[in-house]
Amino acid sequence: MIYDCIIIGTGPAGISAAITLKIHNKSFLLFGGKNLSDKITKAEKITNYPGLPSITGKELSNAFMMHLNEMDIEITDKMVSSVISFGGNYAVTAGTDFFETKSLILATGVTSAASVKNEEKLLGKGVSYCATCDGGLYKNKKIAVISTNPRFLHEVIYLSQLAEELYFFPAYKTEGIVFPENVKTIGSFPETAEGDERLSGIMLKNGQRLEVSGLFCLRDCISPSALISEIETKEGHIAVDREMKTSLKGCFACGDCTGRPYQYVKAAGEGNIAALGVVKYLDS
Ligand SMILES: Cc1cc2nc3c(=O)[nH]c(=O)nc-3n(C[C@H](O)[C@H](O)[C@H](O)COP(=O)(O)OP(=O)(O)OC[C@H]3O[C@@H](n4cnc5c(N)ncnc54)[C@H](O)[C@@H]3O)c2cc1C
Repeated sequence: MIYDCIIIGTGPAGISAAITLKIHNKSFLLFGGKNLSDKITKAEKITNYPGLPSITGKELSNAFMMHLNEMDIEITDKMVSSVISFGGNYAVTAGTDFFETKSLILATGVTSAASVKNEEKLLGKGVSYCATCDGGLYKNKKIAVISTNPRFLHEVIYLSQLAEELYFFPAYKTEGIVFPENVKTIGSFPETAEGDERLSGIMLKNGQRLEVSGLFCLRDCISPSALISEIETKEGHIAVDREMKTSLKGCFACGDCTGRPYQYVKAAGEGNIAALGVVKYLDS
């Protein structure tokens, strides 16, 4: 099946885009997390969302979820690891599955987690964003795993079952979590991925070098240029016009990933514009 649109991201931008596409009767998939976005749930108190003068992040998240349920909009709970444009359409990879779509809405937010030097250069050459897709390549080998969210814990466990040794770099507290014996947590963080043709090791911030053949970066958000290589960016954000069109035909972007200010209302508003842009694009 070729979808009319694929939306990547379940923050206010992606949710708003999904609602508008549903109203316009388009076929689409909404990729993201079942818990929507940590950036909604973690807000203690929100006072700038019109109509909701004082609401907690959890309450806003529940309200978004109720809206999606009422409109029968399902979330495909998978991380998208790559997007390739071909023949006027887009091929989207999530885990080991591929999806084809006529148009795309990027609503991926921004990550505050620092990337590792050379990460994009060695992507596909030892660096991976997807445990399910690439884990099998590292059977009985030494690997390193960076993770920004406990939601990827099952992927870390899966990788530990394949690897000889797994150096784990979580960006969150792991007290109370029991890891398999071959998982080693180190009190520093990877700074540089080393290697020319392929990854040969990682240099940590404390100066220690670890010889690994794989580096898995399991983050909430993948940088736009790593997700879809040809896309034009400006100062680290996806370049868009006032209709939320990116430099790629049929590809729109909205929310934090298009630039500041980082705000719910701006994200939701841009999600709506991006979806209307998709409707116009499909109709033409
Ligand atoms: C603690 C905190 C408090 C805040 N308080 C306020 C406030 O009071 N008022 C206000 O206006 N703003 C506030 N903000 C800012 C606000 O959270 C953001 O501007 C808003 O969430 C941006 O929405 P978004 O949809 O662009 O992205 P996000 O909310 O970041 O959502 C993007 C989603 O896409 C998912 N995603 C990314 N890449 C992929 C991929 N490759 N595959 C699948 N899914 C993917 C991510 O996991 C994430 O769930 C706050 C932020 C924080 C962190």
